[in-house]
Amino acid sequence: MADKITVIGAGVSGITTALSLQHLGYKTEIITDKNPANISNKNIHPEFASLFPSASVIPHSVYSERLEELFKQSQSFFYELRKRVFPGVTIHKHFEVFEFEAEQPEYCNWMPNYIPISDLSETVVPRRPNDKPLYGWLFDCIFADWSLYFPALITLYQQSGGIITQQKLEQEDISALSSDIVINCSGTGSPLLFNDPSEDQLIMRGHLLHKSEAPLITTNDEDIVSYNYTPQPDVYSDDEGNACDVYCYPRKDGWILGGSRQVGQLNKANNWESFSESSTYAIDEIQFPTQIIDLNNEILNNSYDHRLEISDNIIPSVGYRYIRNRRNGLRLDQETISGKKVYHNYGHGGAGVTLSWGCAIEIAHRISNQHQKGIQAELLDNISDIDIEQ
Ligand SMILES: Cc1cc2nc3c(=O)[nH]c(=O)nc-3n(C[C@H](O)[C@H](O)[C@H](O)COP(=O)(O)OP(=O)(O)OC[C@H]3O[C@@H](n4cnc5c(N)ncnc54)[C@H](O)[C@@H]3O)c2cc1C
Repeated sequence: MADKITVIGAGVSGITTALSLQHLGYKTEIITDKNPANISNKNIHPEFASLFPSASVIPHSVYSERLEELFKQSQSFFYELRKRVFPGVTIHKHFEVFEFEAEQPEYCNWMPNYIPISDLSETVVPRRPNDKPLYGWLFDCIFADWSLYFPALITLYQQSGGIITQQKLEQEDISALSSDIVINCSGTGSPLLFNDPSEDQLIMRGHLLHKSEAPLITTNDEDIVSYNYTPQPDVYSDDEGNACDVYCYPRKDGWILGGSRQVGQLNKANNWESFSESSTYAIDEIQFPTQIIDLNNEILNNSYDHRLEISDNIIPSVGYRYIRNRRNGLRLDQETISGKKVYHNYGHGGAGVTLSWGCAIEIAHRISNQHQKGIQAELLDNISDIDIEQ
């Protein structure tokens, strides 16, 4: 088989999809405006979401009628990668804690070793130094250490013969592409490249802090612990008064701390606009909500005897999660444009890493007509054959 396929975009969706097709015997070329390998300051490319993820495999801030099946496909693939010691893939004991009774999302049913925190000893639950009752749950989740995982994925793609070409495409370039099959993984670039039927598009901006030289946080059994913690809305909320969460994911190279989910839009000059007003700290001229430091510090100090200060060695970043709508925003459909079959794979919101394998396998299934299980097995065979450490 030598069908040539063009994939637009070199984010996690584009690389994972192209790698999957490459391993199934197709010849793929990724065409991308920005190449992650050439970017030294990610903060000047906030629209390139794959430079920023935390990256936990939990379906947060994503909207799809097919979420369960895509998530489970992806999650099972990540667990297989974990067995093969793929760079950066770890398992965390992850807490989602609330200072109020929160509705339990459906995804809790999909996470291994789910336990409500009411069944746990109070001492192990991340908390602030107060007596407020806490609600929530604990489960196992896959975490992809981005500094290791994403470079390894790109290397694997190139080792498999995949080509990355840097070029910004315009709408009129699509008909001139050299292949008859095109896969659109251009994220926030999609509405400009293709006519998008969704009218409710929004950008959910997110801040992250990387604190280097911070220790792993572990349970007594040496499992790595991470958390999302949502206080009462008077402590941290969005413009509509909804409670917001902070979080901490320990990595080998320090902690990834968040977060924010600030809703806005891109104006004609492609700059983010919102009416959001919150108290902020600034590092390197990047402003971020004070709660990311202050609340995380309270929790880390009270529960794990660690400290977090604005004066620490912290690198801030801010990126965009692209959401097409809050009903069924993920676009995984197909259309014919100028005689070319275009498969769309974008609009993953805050879960592009989480759904990356599920969506890639779904696209590969549509193109190859092979069953998803067979595709997964073939991909894993190929990945096992490669010396991942190299
Ligand atoms: C702060 C933050 C935290 C996050 N945390 C998580 C998390 O914990 N877990 C998780 O699963 N997800 C998380 N996400 C979401 C995740 O990062 C995104 O869903 C994912 O990266 C989207 O990947 P993508 O490949 O679809 O798009 P992108 O990464 O945006 O890539 C788009 C690609 O298309 C290219 N492109 C665009 N326009 C053109 C054009 N005209 N011509 C050629 N190329 C073009 C771009 O150059 C780029 O290569 C987070 C996001 C943010 C901002």
